[in-house]
Amino acid sequence: MTKTLKGIAASDGIAVAPAYLLVEPDLSFSKTTVSDVDSELARFKRAIEVSTAEVEKIRDDAKKSLGEEEAQVFEAHLMILMDPEFTGAIENEIKEQKINSEAALDETAQKFITIFEGMTDNAYMQQRAADVRDVSKRIMAHLLGKELPNPASIDHEVIVVAHDLTPSDTAQLNKKYVKGFITDIGGRTAHSAIMARSLELPAVVGTDSITKDVENGQSVVVDGLNGDAVIEPTEAQVADYQKKSEAFLKQKAEWEKLKNEPSVTADGKKFTIAANIGTPNDMQGVKDNGAEAVGLYRTEFLYMDSKDFPTEEDQFKAYKEVIEGMNGKQVIIRTMDIGGDKHLDYWDLPEEMNPFLGVRAIRLSLQNEEIFRTQLRALLRASAYGKLGIMFPMIGTLYELRKAKSILAEEKEKLTAKGIKVGDNLEVGMMIEVPAAAVLADQFAKEVDFFSIGTNDLIQYTMAADRGNDNVSYLYQPANPSVLRLIKHTIDAAHENGIWCGMCGEAAGDNTMFPILLSMGLDEYSMSATSILRIRSLMKKLSTEDIKELANKACFVSETAEENEKLVDDLMKKVNN
Ligand code: PEP
Ligand code: MG
Repeated sequence: MTKTLKGIAASDGIAVAPAYLLVEPDLSFSKTTVSDVDSELARFKRAIEVSTAEVEKIRDDAKKSLGEEEAQVFEAHLMILMDPEFTGAIENEIKEQKINSEAALDETAQKFITIFEGMTDNAYMQQRAADVRDVSKRIMAHLLGKELPNPASIDHEVIVVAHDLTPSDTAQLNKKYVKGFITDIGGRTAHSAIMARSLELPAVVGTDSITKDVENGQSVVVDGLNGDAVIEPTEAQVADYQKKSEAFLKQKAEWEKLKNEPSVTADGKKFTIAANIGTPNDMQGVKDNGAEAVGLYRTEFLYMDSKDFPTEEDQFKAYKEVIEGMNGKQVIIRTMDIGGDKHLDYWDLPEEMNPFLGVRAIRLSLQNEEIFRTQLRALLRASAYGKLGIMFPMIGTLYELRKAKSILAEEKEKLTAKGIKVGDNLEVGMMIEVPAAAVLADQFAKEVDFFSIGTNDLIQYTMAADRGNDNVSYLYQPANPSVLRLIKHTIDAAHENGIWCGMCGEAAGDNTMFPILLSMGLDEYSMSATSILRIRSLMKKLSTEDIKELANKACFVSETAEENEKLVDDLMKKVNN
């Protein structure tokens, strides 16, 4: 039966393919005593054998589809499956306590995990805890006759369906086969949605129930333009979606003609349209879409993609690659923003009640100075290879900014004393994403070279609406006059103090927000690379005269976000005629 679910359009494009459910099965069990110990041991051995064969296959598939490095984790899983200390301990439990394999596995795995997690000064051993957890889950699934999803072994076109996708799940998806994704939860600015946009995968998030409504292999449509997910579409619907997809691709081809054009308004005023990236691999997209700068490099993905803290050398190489890749055009690299919805398997941080309000971004860096200093050294060294701006995330107080700047200055001095070259035109800036910083933008502007407004967070903190919670997405209003006044105040404060102001939140690439921001005189617009040509085309249609009144009306006359959406709609009707 055909069923349509309404979600949030998270990444442009349309795809139709069978669903692949990336959902963990229920692995609960009851502890029982066994009378026939030998047959229980044989049952456990069988589970180990099938798990081993399965992991070997996943490892081989991962090597082919994702590369040697991504496959490494499965080698570690095989070592655990073959380790007599681990399997022997479980067999002993079965023999001595006469309990079922599930209970023996669970108890033994917990013991190993507790020991490994306790080694707080040994990140390598702490990572082994995650491996034991993963392997135990696989053995348990076999004991219970359940199937675990294996995204690394997908070998045909699919649409991934999941409750939520973490940035690391998203990074593991093989773009050759994954044609799009649909989730139960999440918002347009959740990090999984941002990753989908950089991978150019159509995505719909926040459908509430897709994982319950669809079965593995059922045909689904993901309409990332409208936010619809259609399960078992009729032939007529598939034909309609194909037409819509063709129209979208045609429109994209039109935009592509602007790839080498400057970003100018209808009356010739020039602004910068930049790209947001997560890894050096995104540089192809930056070039293909004609970005004039990199306005945000989210370095936390470098930490999230490795098995341990990246060394200074690893970081230096990644930053240098991006800086050199831009051939003298500006690159803004943000220091790591771990916390919130971004975690590191190898860094066991305390659980928090409200992670988005907790030890995140600059707060975490300032509490872990050695890790921060390593990153700053790598950045300073890389600055010699082009035009770099270093940017601090989540600054809320002048104290935090001054502290971060003084640590940067110390590291710079130490490098220079050793004769290591640091770029002469290095800029230091901050994100404006905490409302407190937006309100005091006039004071902050005196201490930095630039601002970049992070609307993804600024909106969630201003409206007190979690950016990843679709139940409050109605409150997550980029065009709310309260948010717009903070943005306008920030831009004005920057200009009054002689510094430039950019925006790297998703609002910069939003069709409704863009004309308002242009009217405010924002200098730089940084967005997912795939949005650049659409916005360049929109900019070309707008003249200074068209947008003259827009900012003031949107901030001080309108009372609601809807009124502002209408203002922009009416303006676009006028300029399109
Ligand atoms: C933002 O908050 O707008 C931003 C660009 O940072 P992130 O999305 O990484 O939190
Ligand atoms: Mg942010």
